[in-house]
Amino acid sequence: MISYKKFSIYGVSGLPRFGEFQGANNFKIEELTPYQENISLYVHIPFCQQGCNFCQLRFGGIVVNSIPQIYIDTLISEISIISKFYYNKIIDSIHFGGGTPSLLNEIQFKGIITSIKNNFNCSDDISVSIEGDADSFINSKLIYALQDNKVKNISIGVQTFDEELRSILGRRDSIENIYLLKDILSKFKQIDLNIDYLYNLPQMSNSVIEKDINIINTLSPHSIDIHPLKYSSCNYNLLKTIFDKKYILPDTQRRIFEFNLLRSNFTDMGYEEIFVGYYSKGNNVNKYLLRLHNLLGGEYIGIGLGARSYYGDYSFSNTFNLKDYYSMINASNIKPISRYVFAPLSDNFITLFPKRGKELHFSDIDISKERDYFYDVLFMLERGEYLKNESKSFKMTTNGYNWYQNMMESLLSISQKKLHIENLRNRAKIFNDFNNFFDSIGSEYV
Ligand code: SF4
Repeated sequence: MISYKKFSIYGVSGLPRFGEFQGANNFKIEELTPYQENISLYVHIPFCQQGCNFCQLRFGGIVVNSIPQIYIDTLISEISIISKFYYNKIIDSIHFGGGTPSLLNEIQFKGIITSIKNNFNCSDDISVSIEGDADSFINSKLIYALQDNKVKNISIGVQTFDEELRSILGRRDSIENIYLLKDILSKFKQIDLNIDYLYNLPQMSNSVIEKDINIINTLSPHSIDIHPLKYSSCNYNLLKTIFDKKYILPDTQRRIFEFNLLRSNFTDMGYEEIFVGYYSKGNNVNKYLLRLHNLLGGEYIGIGLGARSYYGDYSFSNTFNLKDYYSMINASNIKPISRYVFAPLSDNFITLFPKRGKELHFSDIDISKERDYFYDVLFMLERGEYLKNESKSFKMTTNGYNWYQNMMESLLSISQKKLHIENLRNRAKIFNDFNNFFDSIGSEYV
């Protein structure tokens, strides 16, 4: 029986993939069989003005004020190289993620959008969304280019409004500018705002969370995306500060308490839980996000350094090495894929069920080739009281919501689980210098 006693401080993968790792050679997009006519496009901008102390996102490098033009030119070349593989697909949504895509200037943004529209078949009502920080959104002409290009959603990484905690996390963008951005957006009616928020922080008290909830209520963003801090993603300096100052670390019960406090407050404020940890006013959720969670056929193509695609039962990623990315595209004119995983949609749909929450129908399990394996794990999760068996479906219990990330890990294929545990053990090495200080949160994997 599965019994989760501790939450993994070493980090649970955000959206894990069921499947088998298969390397990089002989991969042919043109031989894949996609599910849907409509797909999303993800554009990765891996640059920031500074590195936050807690971030594990893929970096191409750190820039001071602007995104290097060579990166934009290479992205545009990649668009023309790969678009021929998707000539009969309709792009109905584009998401700019990062990094800090709001560092794009308006000419760079327009250049990428124009190239996508010239090379791909885009739907008339295409929806565009972009991530970034309030500082860069308000200090550039980009916002007008977003308005002109019918951008529907911008997402900012706030993490917390508490200045002390923000400084521990290494956030240097200003809270004042978040209010200014909200003011500006009130004039651009079609652009919704999303706020990213972190809980499970060291020293996080009830009053900090309650103050944050009140500020969020005042700002009234369209959606809020919350995540627990993963201590293994933090850099050495942050861990050392926590250790030296003997900051209070949240234990499992505290993490669950904070999660439920946020969840119940957002629900009371009228937000709908679209995915576990993602709250939205109205369910006009960006299509890329739905596909990322295996809805709407689940297919999207990623462009840019390290960008991941999911298409025709395969998950594949571009190279994570910036030099290789430039040379594969500019010198060799080839698609920059560095690895791929055979990961059928039917299997991923089950692995990601705890994040989607609510209900998993037996009919969706029965179509999987791995149905026996999945039933074994799901019945174990039922015995652990993470799920309730409703005779034709499994439903999440309150206990299940508290452990949804660990449940996803349990629903991974044996080989992916092994890979995750290895990765966790490698990451855990960063804690070696801290005399078991971080073990109070612990991990069942290590
Ligand atoms: S949290 Fe955002 S702004 Fe900070 S380093 Fe990561 S991607 Fe960049």
